[in-house]
Amino acid sequence: MSGQLSIVGLGPGDSCYLTAQAAAALAAAQALYGYGRYLERVPIRPDQARHPSDNREEGSRAAAALAHAAQGTSVALVSGGDPGVFAMAAAVCEAIESGPEAWRALDVAIVPGVTAMLAVAARMGAPLGHDFCTLSLSDNRKPWELIERRLDAAASAGFVIALYNPISQARPWQLGTALQRLRRHLSQSTPVIFGHAVGRSDERVTVTTLAAADPAAADMATLIIVGSSETRVITRPGRPPLVYTPRSAQGAHT
Ligand code: SAH
Repeated sequence: MSGQLSIVGLGPGDSCYLTAQAAAALAAAQALYGYGRYLERVPIRPDQARHPSDNREEGSRAAAALAHAAQGTSVALVSGGDPGVFAMAAAVCEAIESGPEAWRALDVAIVPGVTAMLAVAARMGAPLGHDFCTLSLSDNRKPWELIERRLDAAASAGFVIALYNPISQARPWQLGTALQRLRRHLSQSTPVIFGHAVGRSDERVTVTTLAAADPAAADMATLIIVGSSETRVITRPGRPPLVYTPRSAQGAHT
């Protein structure tokens, strides 16, 4: 029997975000791999072997899932959000490219999920209604100077910017430095959204300004969306504000 590897996006939290395609891929698996906290979201089934691993072990997790699939097993490797966004799908491609020839012959399917950026944006309105880009603020796998260059380029080009991996215990100063960098290009009143644990029981989504944005308000489970010069906030009586970026842009400089 030939093996199969599905790399499955679970969405940001609650199972209501799981697509029907992802549910079917999980149901078809004989073995499940993933970061322990994500695997906990998949209901236990006694006939499915579970192989939880630590958050930082992406390369070895990808290799283990590929090796297991190469033995003829149907394997699902789970990812939070979308597996293609700063997650396991690229780790698997890296492992295939540098791994044994047999891994190239495997049936590999990538099953998309709702990424944190889209879930946070939907809570607040339509901040991604016009051109936007995404950066990871983690300098574990790229130099900090490159991140600063990309922040400068994105902000000066008028993109709304979604920031993944804004802060962690090992990376305490990067978010504050990034916000300072953005203040060089954008007006102090630019809307900034902090979306914490969206789709989970401790969800908290707030909007502030670039001037008031406080790095201490973010943690590892926070996704930040920094508006462009076009992004607007509509206040509403008795309801949270709507943050949106209009569908047309004037190209005005900040
Ligand atoms: N593949 C994931 C992203 C992994 S990178 C996805 O598509 O969403 C991890 C980062 O994603 C976190 O540091 C945080 O910035 C963001 N993130 C993941 N889940 C989140 C959630 N439920 N709420 C807010 N941000 C989240």
